[in-house]
Amino acid sequence: MIIVIGAGITGLNAALTCQRTGREVLLLEASDRVGGRIKTDLISGYQLDHGFQVINPAYPEVKRLNLQLQLQTMEAGVKVATADKNFIVADPFRNPRNIISTLRAPIGSFKSKRALISFLFQKQRTGISNFEVELNSHGINGPLYEKVIRPFMRGVLLGELDLVDAQVGRELLKFFAKGTPGIPLKGAQTLPDLMAKQIDKLNLNESVASVNGKVVTTDQRTYTAEKIIVAIDGANAANLIPEVTPPRFNLSTTWYFATADKVVADKFLMVDGEGRGPIVNLIALDQICASFAPANMQLLSITTLIPCDENEVKSHLRLLIGKLPQDLQLIKEYHIPRSLPAFIPNYSRPNFQQISGELFIAGDYLCGPSQNGALMSGRLAAEAAIS
Ligand SMILES: Cc1cc2nc3c(=O)[nH]c(=O)nc-3n(C[C@H](O)[C@H](O)[C@H](O)COP(=O)(O)OP(=O)(O)OC[C@H]3O[C@@H](n4cnc5c(N)ncnc54)[C@H](O)[C@@H]3O)c2cc1C
Repeated sequence: MIIVIGAGITGLNAALTCQRTGREVLLLEASDRVGGRIKTDLISGYQLDHGFQVINPAYPEVKRLNLQLQLQTMEAGVKVATADKNFIVADPFRNPRNIISTLRAPIGSFKSKRALISFLFQKQRTGISNFEVELNSHGINGPLYEKVIRPFMRGVLLGELDLVDAQVGRELLKFFAKGTPGIPLKGAQTLPDLMAKQIDKLNLNESVASVNGKVVTTDQRTYTAEKIIVAIDGANAANLIPEVTPPRFNLSTTWYFATADKVVADKFLMVDGEGRGPIVNLIALDQICASFAPANMQLLSITTLIPCDENEVKSHLRLLIGKLPQDLQLIKEYHIPRSLPAFIPNYSRPNFQQISGELFIAGDYLCGPSQNGALMSGRLAAEAAIS
């Protein structure tokens, strides 16, 4: 029997990969649900993900799964707010309606826009380790970098671009150029839920306390396994397996506000091109899908990365949308200290780790800070375990 520990999307994909080859697999999960960091709450008619999270259909690992996610897509582009005016920078191929506003956007020279396009299509690596330096060295600088790419990618990586490995940053930016992300009709948790439906043996509420050779001890019993795949987040994995180096995490807070006043009437992710406050990005979820909020209500999702309070968020929001509705109400705030592993420049990226003949480690922190990285790590660890 193969034991997979942790039923986040890494562990689910590891279990599915082993199961498909006819192996007996047992998936052990400490909590009472699958999905780990991907969770959706329904609160008073509002559908809220634990942290604003989108799924990019261009992720190769998501394509492989071939699931009916019913993605409700956002616009292919970004709305940039500045003190002067707001403008849209959209992909002219996927979003031709906004071509004029994109051409008029005050984001610097044609040269820097061309540099971005060539960067997105270039396969060759530069050998530069810092994402910000790599972008700048390609000519992606000035207003295009400061007002658009930097604020947008801060929200994707949940950290500063000069603290991110160039290869990791480039890969994620390219995914946005290839696919238009969205949120499943029933929330991000649809992804792990649909995967879990295919798992034959899943024990929830069973926490693994130790792994010794082929023996797995949980808070309930002891198992002997042929192979073991540890697919839990990096911090917990390091507590369980001494050979695992704990990653550094980037934190995030998602604030959900509701109002009957539809102050945002589009599906664009909005960023502040001038960094005038703590908000990293803002999106009106009811515009993406009406069923994400009760009838006639607007649901704003706002992400911040630095410690701040509700008043600071509201002050910044006022600058972004012009006025604060009278009835604006905070529905829920999710503070997630371990949101994404921080892939600092030159961070080791083995995809998965093999500790011994029977012990394998998988997780986003070994492969990439995204659903694609998590799924890929789980699949590759499983393929190695069954080979
Ligand atoms: C706020 C936020 C926004 C994000 N946005 C995006 C996005 O827009 N796009 C994107 O691609 N990615 C995004 N991500 C990243 C993505 O969600 C993660 O990379 C992915 O979900 C990680 O999955 P995982 O299975 O590796 O880890 P986890 O989801 O952490 O799962 C680990 C599981 O192991 C279980 N576990 C822990 N210890 C034990 C034990 N001892 N015994 C048994 N089980 C145990 C846990 O309960 C958990 O279920 C976001 C993440 C967050 C938090």
